[in-house]
Amino acid sequence: FDNRKNAALAWGDCIGQVVERYEAVEDDYLKQRGVDVRSVGDHVLMELPGEKATIRIDSDGPVSLFAEEFTSFETSQLDLKKVVGIATVMGGPTSHSAILARSLGIPALTGVDKEINGVSNGTPVVLDGFNGLLWVEPPEDVWQESQQRREQWLAKRIELQKFSAAPAVMQDKRQIEVVANIGTAADARSAIVNGAEGVGLLRTEFLYLSRETAPTEQEQFELLCEIGQAMKDRPIIVRTLDVGGDKELPYIHLPKEANPFLGVRAIRLSLREKDLFQTQLRAILRAGTDYQYRIMFPMIANLAELQLAKEQLELAHSALNAEGVNHRWPVETGIMVEIPSAAILSNALAPFVDFFSIGTNDLTQYTLAAERGNPDLAEYADGLHPAVLNLIRTVVDNAHEEGKWVGICGELAGNLEAIPILIGLGIDELSMNPAAIPEAKALIRKLDMVQITPLAENALAATSAETVRKAAGEFVRKFK
Ligand code: PEP
Ligand code: MG
Repeated sequence: FDNRKNAALAWGDCIGQVVERYEAVEDDYLKQRGVDVRSVGDHVLMELPGEKATIRIDSDGPVSLFAEEFTSFETSQLDLKKVVGIATVMGGPTSHSAILARSLGIPALTGVDKEINGVSNGTPVVLDGFNGLLWVEPPEDVWQESQQRREQWLAKRIELQKFSAAPAVMQDKRQIEVVANIGTAADARSAIVNGAEGVGLLRTEFLYLSRETAPTEQEQFELLCEIGQAMKDRPIIVRTLDVGGDKELPYIHLPKEANPFLGVRAIRLSLREKDLFQTQLRAILRAGTDYQYRIMFPMIANLAELQLAKEQLELAHSALNAEGVNHRWPVETGIMVEIPSAAILSNALAPFVDFFSIGTNDLTQYTLAAERGNPDLAEYADGLHPAVLNLIRTVVDNAHEEGKWVGICGELAGNLEAIPILIGLGIDELSMNPAAIPEAKALIRKLDMVQITPLAENALAATSAETVRKAAGEFVRKFK
């Protein structure tokens, strides 16, 4: 107070002094604890002015980040300009922080050995996201080779981007719609650069990760219009709020549950918090006046839930009508198929939707009872498991019988090994992180239904994900 410093400045100075003392210690382990003090200090600093700030990275050059775990919120707060890789002890390839990292086009490793926690700041590392490898203090040849591979990969990416705006038409003239999974307006811009033909999944919960209070209808409307401006007349599938599981929002107080992934999540929550749901539906319908918005409900388990969700949509429409507010109506409406019951009963659901989008991240975890964020179960949770593929085939057959189309928006859709099998199963649309689009389109253009149908049929008849992956890997290598 005497020095006329406000609380944040005084706190910052104080923490700075403690950190300096740690850093002066000779012992490497203790020296590192300065980082922990800084991190705690930063958290308090963020709270002091009552707003969230980006997580600061104290380095001039490119860095890889190591952590026990990043929450979706923390990943969204990272200033990623300097970050070229992320490695965490917890999480799996389809956990939400990995999805966020992937959407930024940077390699992310999960399930890494706990010992990474002891690696000191400034240690040279090589992180290979393709093969899931990490070297701490790598030998010179590994360093050189990885630098070269990175440069080649970046050059190839630029080359592929040149053709990525063109449609993905297969050798037999069948066209696969390739669209993007996005969570922000910046992702929408990146989707366009990478050749997305639309948005197959807008994860609305990612739009408001850093807010302390619920966004108003007008705020949601404006953000949806910003995304609409980036996408112009391309279709945008906006998914209503999918909170719960491993995604929390500060302004929604979820009950403590023993198994949050099996709890009040997604549409289950929206149907309980009707005001929140109405606000979102109204904003989407209003933004649909000028942009090609479609609506998708997450985690539908049965027909009754779909009907309740559609009733809410009708309600939002009648209210906007009564108020004389412009909005899109009718609006194309679909559901995510990510619970096995929805896949098995897709014949009953198909007449009531315009489209299905299969969320293989959740469909896999629920089919194989292997939580997507658990690093010890990564080998169980492979979406190329024949059990998951048979569910996908069921959905495709039931949808096509009703004249409806089917997309995939789980991480599997952007996986090069999986793409020929998914198309062979009859999928019409693939929605993936923007960075994966150019290479996926280049591969699709080389495929032919005659070649991939037997590959898909064999995958359906296989008895393990391992067998399917092996066959898929060998098939794709032929096109590299
Ligand atoms: C999925 O479950 O596959 C999906 C796309 O939804 P999310 O990853 O957001 O749960
Ligand atoms: Mg899901």
